[in-house]
Amino acid sequence: MKVAFFSTKSYDRQYFDQYNSQGFELTYYKVRLEEETAEFAKGYDAICTFVNDRLGADVLEKLAGYGIKVIALRCAGFNNVDLEKAKELGITLVRVPAYSPHAVAEHAVALILTLNRKTHKAYNRVRDNNFSLERLTGFDLNGKTVGVVGTGKIGAIFAQIMRGFGCKIVAYDVYQNPELLEQGVEYMEMQDLLTQSDIVSLHCPLLPSTYHIINKETIKMMKRGAMLINTSRGPLVNTKQVIKGLKSGHIGALGIDVYEMEEKLFFRDLSEKIVTDDVIARLLSFPNVLITSHQAFFTDEALTQIAKTTLKNLEDYNEGRELTNEVSF
Ligand code: NAD
Repeated sequence: MKVAFFSTKSYDRQYFDQYNSQGFELTYYKVRLEEETAEFAKGYDAICTFVNDRLGADVLEKLAGYGIKVIALRCAGFNNVDLEKAKELGITLVRVPAYSPHAVAEHAVALILTLNRKTHKAYNRVRDNNFSLERLTGFDLNGKTVGVVGTGKIGAIFAQIMRGFGCKIVAYDVYQNPELLEQGVEYMEMQDLLTQSDIVSLHCPLLPSTYHIINKETIKMMKRGAMLINTSRGPLVNTKQVIKGLKSGHIGALGIDVYEMEEKLFFRDLSEKIVTDDVIARLLSFPNVLITSHQAFFTDEALTQIAKTTLKNLEDYNEGRELTNEVSF
């Protein structure tokens, strides 16, 4: 089987080559998949894509024209795919439903701890022989209320970790996780979660119903000074309205691993370039904002799991076996 990979980095090649026991012919393209680059898929049996590759109707039509019948998403989310179009064209989609929910949950906690105790600032200060504690005050997590929006695999692990800090966990989800209910987690309406929480962490998928779930109205419902964490998908948050919330002090701190307009920025070294995105530039100017570039998943365990599962998905497809990780819609 010949597979063309899009948006690849050195670590993709490293892990996929290591676990390619099937002996597939893998070609690694650095370019992101979009209409202009779709023709790189010519001559392959399958393609493999990541979170910011574009799989809209135009791209899918081109891929179908080149004979691509299966797309292996080496990620969990599939919000970047026009599912109706894929169905119409008879393209099979397989994904990696869970690679390391611990990695993402732990990264959300890392954002909270860093923003709260300002260790990133302390690190730089001390290296500069500045041993002052001025403006490094944090707060005890013990006793605080943490609102978890989306209590699936990642949200549930995140809730457990935060319980370990002595936090009270409140949750909002369209489905109540029985394990969390057993642990005494209280489910409530989104509005109540927002009014009660000192920290709000987003772990729901990006769907039409969750697009801009954090907006002008929901920000107003949040406690003044609350911390907002997003390790899920950028468009869950209306970034411009969050900036207004930060300017007014209503949002006390913001930690994001995902960003609404991340496609043109994340996973690239732009240190010698002029960044023309004024929204991220404004976000970066706040002392109480911490941004990481979609690295929550980035652990050895997760990369191993992504490579093994993706290759197994392609093997199952190739052998005509039942597809356990097919995106069903
Ligand atoms: P999951 O499917 O196990 O859980 C998602 C939860 O969200 C489910 O409990 C579901 O019922 C709930 N949900 C669905 N619609 C909702 C709504 N309208 N409001 C509230 N909750 C709703 O998924 P997961 O593995 O926990 O992953 C969660 C998200 O994390 C993914 O969708 C993905 O966007 C993101 N993610 C980010 C990274 C990263 O590196 N930053 C890595 C992996 C996943």
